[in-house]
This record gives sequence, C-alpha cells and structure tokens, in this order.
Amino acid sequence: MSNNSVPESGSFVIPLTKLQRRPGNMWETDLLLGPVSDMGVAMARVTPNSPMSAHIRLESVMEGVLASADVDYLVDAECARCLEPMNWHDSTSLQELFLYPDTDSRGREIVPDGDQDGGDEITVYHVHDDAIDLEEAIRDAIVLELPLKPLCDENCRGLCPTCGEKLGAEDHQHEVADPRWSALSGLFTDSDSGPEGIDSA
Ligand SMILES: [Zn+2]
Ligand SMILES: [Zn+2]
Repeated sequence: MSNNSVPESGSFVIPLTKLQRRPGNMWETDLLLGPVSDMGVAMARVTPNSPMSAHIRLESVMEGVLASADVDYLVDAECARCLEPMNWHDSTSLQELFLYPDTDSRGREIVPDGDQDGGDEITVYHVHDDAIDLEEAIRDAIVLELPLKPLCDENCRGLCPTCGEKLGAEDHQHEVADPRWSALSGLFTDSDSGPEGIDSA
C-alpha cells in the first residue's frame, strides 16, 4: 500500500487523516522517525542523530486506533567487560491501542490527566488532535530490547586488572615484582660498594 502523504521525517506523530474512522479500516505507511538523542540504557543506545525506519500500520477499531510498528534502528554500545565500542542494526515490533479522547458535552476533547507517574499503572495512549504520537511506545519497546550488559564476544575476558589492556585468548603475564625480592634487591644495591669495593681496592 503506497501513499503520498508520508509525515515529515523527524516526527513520531502520525496524522490520522488517511484513516477513516470506521472500524476495520486500515492504513499503512513507511517512514523515517527520529532522529533521537537519548533513547537507551546505560551501555547501549540508539545511535544519536540516526533516523529510524519504520513500517506503520494503523487500524481503526471501536475505541480508537490500533497502531502496529516495525522499527529498524542503529545501536551504539560498549562491551560491558572490555568497554570496546560496538554498533549493530536492530529492530523491534510493537502494537499499541490509542483510545479516542473523551469529549465533554460540547464535543470538546477532554485532555486526559497525565498518568506518567502512575507507578504500576499501564500507560494508556490517546488519540490527540486527530493524530497519534508513537514516541513513547517506540521508546519503551526499544529500551526493553537493548541489552543491559552488551558483550563484544560471549567469551570476552575483559580488561587486565594490572595493566588495563584487553585480555586475549592467551593468558598474558606480568613480571610480578614480589615485594620480598624488591626489598632484597634494594639491599644488594645498597651494598654494591661493599664487597666489590673491597675486592677492587
Ligand atoms: Zn569485550
Ligand atoms: Zn596486563
């Protein structure tokens, strides 16, 4: 299904103008969302300033609009063990129901109270100004998808606690200076001029 009314890139707001408000009607589109600057978790995030491509499917239902989205995006991350930077392509799918807003006796839209801080409450999305805003739903879906402990390799051994170098498959050794030996070598250094001095005299 193609169309000529693709919303501007950069917006997560999808106008419903092409979707007839009659249950069963469908409208789909491909578009670019974002870019975003801060969508992620501690060690992985959507690459800042990269757009996301999305296939959006809107379906008119009795109570509102059922929105489905398949989103492709780039991820920037650091290995949780060795901190090596990584990036990859990822994708997620989501489906959310956007309820039509309640109207007052004059037919005006009642803006729902902000329920953002509602603790365990499930987020309820609403149609607003004949459009839906997918940003929060997409953000939630992507954040759930991102790894909390990304690894460059399952067997990554992290960094050497002594020198900070990345540990390879081979064990890497350090000449561990035993404090007792360094004390002894200090003794020898101090007495260098001792026996030798006598010998050469
Ligand atoms: Zn690593
Ligand atoms: Zn080392």
